[in-house]
Amino acid sequence: MKRLVMKFGGTSVGSADRILRVAGLVERYRAPETVVVVSAMSGVTDRLEEMAHRTSEGADEASIRSFVEHLRRRHLSVAAKIVELGGRDVRDEIEALLGELEKILVGISYVGELTPRSLDYVLSFGERLCAPLLSAALEARGMPSEWFTGYEAGIVTDSCFGRARPLMELTRERVREVLLPRLRGSIPVVTGFIAGDEKGRITTLGRGGSDYSAAILGAVLDADEIWIWSDVDGILTTDPSLVEDAKVIDVLSYTEAMELAYFGAKVLHPKTIEPAMEKGIPVRVRNTFNPDCEGTLIVSEQEKSDSIVKAISVMRDVALLNISGVGMIGVPGVASRVFTALAQQNINILMISQGSSEANISVVVERGDAERAVEALREEFLGANVVRKVEYEEDVAIIAVVGAGMRGTKGVAARVFTAVASADVNVLMIAQGSSEVNISFVVSSADAERAASALHREFINGG
Ligand code: ADP
Ligand code: ASP
Ligand code: MG
Repeated sequence: MKRLVMKFGGTSVGSADRILRVAGLVERYRAPETVVVVSAMSGVTDRLEEMAHRTSEGADEASIRSFVEHLRRRHLSVAAKIVELGGRDVRDEIEALLGELEKILVGISYVGELTPRSLDYVLSFGERLCAPLLSAALEARGMPSEWFTGYEAGIVTDSCFGRARPLMELTRERVREVLLPRLRGSIPVVTGFIAGDEKGRITTLGRGGSDYSAAILGAVLDADEIWIWSDVDGILTTDPSLVEDAKVIDVLSYTEAMELAYFGAKVLHPKTIEPAMEKGIPVRVRNTFNPDCEGTLIVSEQEKSDSIVKAISVMRDVALLNISGVGMIGVPGVASRVFTALAQQNINILMISQGSSEANISVVVERGDAERAVEALREEFLGANVVRKVEYEEDVAIIAVVGAGMRGTKGVAARVFTAVASADVNVLMIAQGSSEVNISFVVSSADAERAASALHREFINGG
């Protein structure tokens, strides 16, 4: 292997010891040309988000200062340890970043308003504070290293703050210009999650987006492999916090991994697979705390596997919208108007289904988008005698059953719904025309864990 992109998640870099352990892993596994992508230290992005909101709602300067002080202690203690080990001193860099953060928070408190753009700016500090630490830790272990923000490294996105999309051609050009000359003899450390738009304003790729950053860099650099280092042994048969005996999956196809990530397997950001798949670059998911485990390999072609269902994912924080009215019967274009109305608000539709009676259409969206979605749909339809009601239910979850072996195997859906019914779980909606490697449906949040366990027993634990 000549060129490798490795991404380390928040838990992998949560403390001085962990950052030093990561430096050891980079030393052990690096290829002749290696790029490291890093997230914020665990919990930092959550705290920045919470503080940004509190500030816009009137938190005073004292609480801003004490928040910044907390971040200062956490990051400076790591920086000091690296200096002890002979690494470069990044304490001034950290101080400068914290000064900048304090100023922007005070600014937000004066304006009393938090725009998506200023939120992205605040969130960027998690990764910006962490990257210099890891870069210095690599140097302390004898690997020359420089750090870059995603934008400095060349990742350019549109200006959709909060969930920006990369402009791939421009990104390819810039990343290659910046990073290729530096790959020999040095290991660039790039902040995950954050990038910049064409005007150079900081954007973020969406929560959990460091995985996506690694995949973007891997694709534009034509890397041989992309490795995602996390705190689990790989992609597991289901969320380990729901089912104790979830097992590691050795190999997954891009499509299977994409479906799992899309429907809630948090270990991979849903967009991670796409750039890798386009270039046919293998993605590996491995455990920082158990590096001897091979983890999960995600590739395009897959040898036949015995299992019909490989994994079950649960996606929470979604809402089910119901659009109904007898006036919809026989009226063409209702579904397309639903899509358009939601697309105009930049609302992502996760699932859609239309009853055969045509008198109702259900869509699932992220919970945070639900109210705006209802408003947009009411505005689009009400008063025209087509749609009578637009209602929504917030406390729901999507369960997805994923496996390429379902293709062409009869009776899988029957087994899925029998297992779910035997667990006494009511199915609220089933997706129409879901891909052949995935059966997904909606249940009430309270039933999600029970449904996932029942399916895990039925398909994975050889029930
Ligand atoms: P990182 O900080 O490394 O990006 P994340 O917290 O984003 O890590 O993702 C890893 C977590 O994803 C795991 O600790 C696990 O709780 C959760 N998870 C959910 N579903 C799965 C799954 N199918 N396989 C592995 N982990 C999963
Ligand atoms: N630090 C960011 C987040 O918590 C990005 C990531 O961890 O991938 O969302
Ligand atoms: Mg993550």
